[in-house]
Amino acid sequence: MSRLMRFSPFPASRPSPLGRRLRLGGAALIAAAVFVVDTFTPLSSAVAVLYVLVLLLVGDELPGRKLWVVTLACAAMATISFAFAHGEDVELAPTLRLMVSLAALGVAAFLTGRNLAAREILQAQARLLDVTSDAIFIRDTQGRVTFWNRGAERLYGWTRDEALGQDAHRLLETLLPAPSDEIAARVACDGAWQGEVTQRRKDGGILTVLSEWILERDAATGAHALLESNTDISDLRRADEALRRSEARYRTIFNTLAVSIWEHDFRPVKTALDELRAQGVTDLADHLARNPEVAREIKARVGITDVNATALKMMGVADKGDFFQRLEDLLPETDDSFAQFLIAFDAGAPRFETETTVRSRTGEMIPVMVALNFPPDAQGLDRVQASIVDLTEQRRMQERLDRARSELEHALRAATLGVLSASIAHEVNQPLAAISNAAGAAQRWLDRATPDLDEAKEAVADVVHAAAHAAEVVRGIRGLIAQTPADRAALPVDGLLAASAGFVRREIAEHGVELILDPQAPDTVVHGDRVVLQQALVNLMLNGVQAMSAVPAETRRLHVRSRREGGEAVIEIADTGPGFPPDAADRAFEAFFTTKPGGMGLGLAICQSAVAAHDGRIAVLPSDQGARIEIRLPAVA
Ligand code: ADP
Repeated sequence: MSRLMRFSPFPASRPSPLGRRLRLGGAALIAAAVFVVDTFTPLSSAVAVLYVLVLLLVGDELPGRKLWVVTLACAAMATISFAFAHGEDVELAPTLRLMVSLAALGVAAFLTGRNLAAREILQAQARLLDVTSDAIFIRDTQGRVTFWNRGAERLYGWTRDEALGQDAHRLLETLLPAPSDEIAARVACDGAWQGEVTQRRKDGGILTVLSEWILERDAATGAHALLESNTDISDLRRADEALRRSEARYRTIFNTLAVSIWEHDFRPVKTALDELRAQGVTDLADHLARNPEVAREIKARVGITDVNATALKMMGVADKGDFFQRLEDLLPETDDSFAQFLIAFDAGAPRFETETTVRSRTGEMIPVMVALNFPPDAQGLDRVQASIVDLTEQRRMQERLDRARSELEHALRAATLGVLSASIAHEVNQPLAAISNAAGAAQRWLDRATPDLDEAKEAVADVVHAAAHAAEVVRGIRGLIAQTPADRAALPVDGLLAASAGFVRREIAEHGVELILDPQAPDTVVHGDRVVLQQALVNLMLNGVQAMSAVPAETRRLHVRSRREGGEAVIEIADTGPGFPPDAADRAFEAFFTTKPGGMGLGLAICQSAVAAHDGRIAVLPSDQGARIEIRLPAVA
């Protein structure tokens, strides 16, 4: 503001071009008249002093050298008139008058020149006011604008011509922070006033400006005027407001967050680490490991500056004022997370996270997870927030989960064992029945009056065969349950069909079923476990045989077919029984699903596992009569 103090609020008025021309003309006329009178009348040099009028008239218009040119011209004209009137006859009185006239001209030129210089300074200052970005205007005692700089044009939107003569504060709808009388009294007393005011721009926009008023008095006229310099601080105020709101929001979050937060003053930590460095400590981790008391000492210096409601609750403290003052008050002696924190801090890590235990006011040890972000520079070290999550419930849940998991594993093992034994029981049933049948037959051949040894031998061979098959079935089932079919080999599909049918030969005969074996894939080979695949086919054939006990004996037919379809071997087993009961076709492959009174519901489930283990598919096909099941296996190329 001081740069404005010397600037007069009464800018010199500029003459119009016409006035200027008139003055120049007048001055020329005066000069000519004075010259004529001086030269040709007997007044002899008495009027030469009137050349001063010329300077007074046009001096303001003649900057620098021009002023002196006009002065010298006037002096020359006076001297010429003198020479003309007196020739060589020089008298004292006229000579003295000429001297006085020339001296008066010199003094007038000097004073005009000084006045001009002063005015130029003022004009330069006025120009300065124009280039400043502040809005500056001057108002007279009636409040009317007498000066309006470019900054004011830019800020308020009114041009100088529009603003001049207007009541400044009515135009700007200025809202003052205090009654205007009070401010006027203050200005009258101090000569200045400063405050924040609200004003309106030409386009209606509201501005907040910092306004500085200076009372100026014109020395010449004694009139008062006020120079106002206004700096737009709307953005600043908006930023302040945004900051205030954000701070309020932060406070709300801080206080209502479900996570505990406490604020630390970590400046002592920085000081302590700097001291350690100055002492020559280079490997901080090593130093802290060797001197555990160092971390403890630094911890004792860390203050807790603020805390939210959740933290109070977690730590069993009723009031903020009663909360732990220092970090060491809540971290137990045994805590080593603080040393890790120091190392992370020292390494310039952006973030630190750890799990530790804190001691509540009631002495309860609470497992917590602590996370904090380090401020990017040392500026914010006095208020570093750490979020603390109480892990008590999580730990409890984890324990419960672990317990539940181990119980589940136990149950799964038991269930697997159950399925395994049930499957073995199911699959071994058939060979056992075959053994029993064959052994019975052998006994009968031997019990005859003349024992038929050949038949008995054949029956015993069947017993041996069935027993070997039973052992293989057990091995296959175990492999299947473990998902690792053991013996993989290239198996001709039609061979599988014939061997499987062989195993159910006796059941088929006993139930009076006609077996129609129709192998149509002579060269098709699949890769897999022979026993597992045979057993799947045996299961399907036995299901068909059992289902057909519900229909008259003469209609019981079991079709077993094979064919090649693209890259697949297709096996179809169809019977002439009642077909799948409604809904059973969808659920038939589920383990333990059965509609038979003594059924186990495992046959089809085992078939599906067996086929899936060989990358194949099994499905119940639609059928007009009886059940149709199809197996598709990838054929070896
Ligand atoms: P289980 O024979 O012990 O019942 P399965 O898994 O072999 O177990 O069969 C499941 C169910 O599918 C049977 O209870 C039966 O309802 C139905 N099912 C299986 N095969 C046939 C079939 N050939 N004809 C009609 N229904 C069948």
